[in-house]
Amino acid sequence: MDEIFGFGDELGPGKVLHIYLPKLGLRSVVAVDNTACGASIGGVRFAPDVTAEEACRLARAMTLKNAAAGLPHGGGKAVIAGDPKMDAPRKEEWIRAFAQAISSLEDYIAGPDMGTDEIAMGWIQDEIGRAVGLPRELGGIPLDEIGATGFGLSVAIEVAAKTISLTMQGARVAIQGFGAVGKHAARFLVGKGCRVVACSDTRGTVSTDDGLDIDGLIALKEAGKSVTEFAGGENSGPEAILGVPCDVWIPAARPDVVNRDNAAMLDTRIVAEGANIPCTLEAEAMLAQRGVLVLPDFVVNAGGVICAAIEYHGGTGSSVFGVIEEKIRRNTASVLETAIRTHTYTRDAAIEMAAQRVHKAARARRWG
Ligand code: NAD
Repeated sequence: MDEIFGFGDELGPGKVLHIYLPKLGLRSVVAVDNTACGASIGGVRFAPDVTAEEACRLARAMTLKNAAAGLPHGGGKAVIAGDPKMDAPRKEEWIRAFAQAISSLEDYIAGPDMGTDEIAMGWIQDEIGRAVGLPRELGGIPLDEIGATGFGLSVAIEVAAKTISLTMQGARVAIQGFGAVGKHAARFLVGKGCRVVACSDTRGTVSTDDGLDIDGLIALKEAGKSVTEFAGGENSGPEAILGVPCDVWIPAARPDVVNRDNAAMLDTRIVAEGANIPCTLEAEAMLAQRGVLVLPDFVVNAGGVICAAIEYHGGTGSSVFGVIEEKIRRNTASVLETAIRTHTYTRDAAIEMAAQRVHKAARARRWG
């Protein structure tokens, strides 16, 4: 198969749909990686430089994330090539046209991703009745507003802390990126007794060993300012966050921020991957060899997709935190237990757990 199509393995991708609407100039690719666990859920990424290969890789990441979270959903992803800041009426026309083009692809459920938001999901829902991450008025649960992913991260960190006998009370946390994931992780961790000693955004890092005032920082960010404008700490450049001595280091910004060139700078006991693929595989290996416990992204940052799945199945906001807590607590504990028992990297243990779930589900399927 590889010789003919160039990609594909025992999991997928099951379907790759190329969409071209010449009148609009719209080009899109939807990858449905694997649907053994159920219809695929994955975001619609709207960016100028997306590729079909990227759609397939991201769809695979969603297969693993959804299976690891124990959701009745497979993994998919859509990419639309274009400027996400195009004027609003044109963007609406594009998204609605995209929705019509995927109307018969019933094993793909669209969600928000880079360049798309709840309003865009509302348009897709309006066209084809199938989307998650909807506005509250359409039955959506606003996952970034309630901090679904940050909450899940805080639960995973609690499990990891117990594994290495780290007391949450007073544990020092450093957070790279103070957006939807970072600020809510900070809030929930402070609620569990931790001390956030540093956080950063694109403009710089603010730190104090006494612990930052998180509510003050959130208010500052919501006013459109940088963490570096916060009066209650010392300022340094954006890279300084890497070297802050702490117990828990949370990347919550961009991919590949920790790599072979800077992994040695991290001075922490736990790395909790809030962002997607924030550490290269090489960096994860370097950290593990130094005894740092790395919590793999797709296990510990699944709070958002768990929330989206609850929304899709008609659940309400009040059930979200309990379900995220139960799933992420159990899955993180299982991954760490396997990794320690079998002397493997945590990511390998997590992939094995997710893949096993997909294979088990596939046995109940006619076509796998
Ligand atoms: P966001 O845009 O709300 O926040 C990102 C923050 O990171 C911003 O404050 C930005 O200033 C900062 N940032 C960007 N580059 C930086 C850098 N080099 N150094 C320091 N700070 C930097 O995004 P978000 O929703 O919080 O998502 C963050 C990451 O987590 C992304 O990789 C996203 O794909 C991933 N993720 C998000 C969710 C979710 O529920 N929102 C779920 C899973 C994964």
